[in-house]
Amino acid sequence: MNRSDIKSMLPDELEAALVEMGEPRFRAGQIFTWLMRGVTDFSSMTNIGKSLQMKLDERYYITSPEILRKQVSEEDGTIKYLWKLMDGSAVESVLMHYKHGSTVCVSSQVGCRMGCAFCASAQGGWVRNLSSSEILDQVLFTEKDSGTRVSNIVMMGIGEPLDNFDNVIRFIELVTHPDGINIGMRHISLSTCGLPEKIDKLGDYNLQLTLSLSLHAPDDETRLGLMPVNRRYPTQEVLDACTRYYEKTGRRISIEYALIDGVNDSNEQAEMLARIALSLCAHINLIPLNNVDGSPLRPSRRLKQFVSLLKEKGANVTVRRRLGGDIEAACGQLRKKASG
Ligand code: SAH
Repeated sequence: MNRSDIKSMLPDELEAALVEMGEPRFRAGQIFTWLMRGVTDFSSMTNIGKSLQMKLDERYYITSPEILRKQVSEEDGTIKYLWKLMDGSAVESVLMHYKHGSTVCVSSQVGCRMGCAFCASAQGGWVRNLSSSEILDQVLFTEKDSGTRVSNIVMMGIGEPLDNFDNVIRFIELVTHPDGINIGMRHISLSTCGLPEKIDKLGDYNLQLTLSLSLHAPDDETRLGLMPVNRRYPTQEVLDACTRYYEKTGRRISIEYALIDGVNDSNEQAEMLARIALSLCAHINLIPLNNVDGSPLRPSRRLKQFVSLLKEKGANVTVRRRLGGDIEAACGQLRKKASG
């Protein structure tokens, strides 16, 4: 019998499966609790009895990643994990400590097919989607290994979350479930390169999470040079989808903009960006570009001027603080090093 992935099941699905196996409903809650604690085999579920443990083991498997590499920043305690998944694929996550709590940045795919020019994850192409349990494991096993209680999640690791829509939604349902680790929906951010149909679909769920749009350029010409996805979905279509999203959910969009030397950092582009942000009621998060091996793109030298101009135009802007600089904690670089 082909075993299925038990940790990707929601409690009500677990319940239905147990009832079908002739077991009492309440077992589902017990099993779910064990899974959310990161147990790696059914025999650790000490309150459910040997025979049920064995029945479960015949029908299901429990995903568990191994730590392939772990780096701890001496500067700020940021921890970067490279996980080996059960099929040998590797993905990474990063644990960052802030005053308001700890954030884990998770990957949603093995590789990525979006091909952004500045992004290390794009370089090896796309391998496969992660299951909901594999995304969740990055949170569970980061908590387990580091002894830290995670309070915030950002989907800004490897992959395009909206390109793995169903598994990502299910991951969100699992991680926010009150009987599990119960992360607040408002403590989750989902970052996308901008897929309008999927943004609309996400809007229909009306979740109170934060949607971040990786805009990186205010005009089609510049954006096309950086993000091939713009060929399929021109900037205005993406922005229109974001407007609809904001209207539906009442949640402000966050615009991510990595400042690149001589590419997207002119005064004119700052003015265009400010106009876009104001019309969307969006917040702008400027990211100092991280250098990526093999890419000629360099961080902008005009960060200060760019920020002042945005502020002058009335835009709401912050500059992302760089954490884990000494361990290259950014943007798919560890996975790339391990495989190359
Ligand atoms: N696919 C999603 C999420 C993953 S990337 C997305 O495109 O949003 C998370 C963020 O890091 C995105 O804003 C992405 O554009 C940005 N990023 C990728 N490479 C970067 C680099 N070298 N320097 C700065 N930001 C980068």
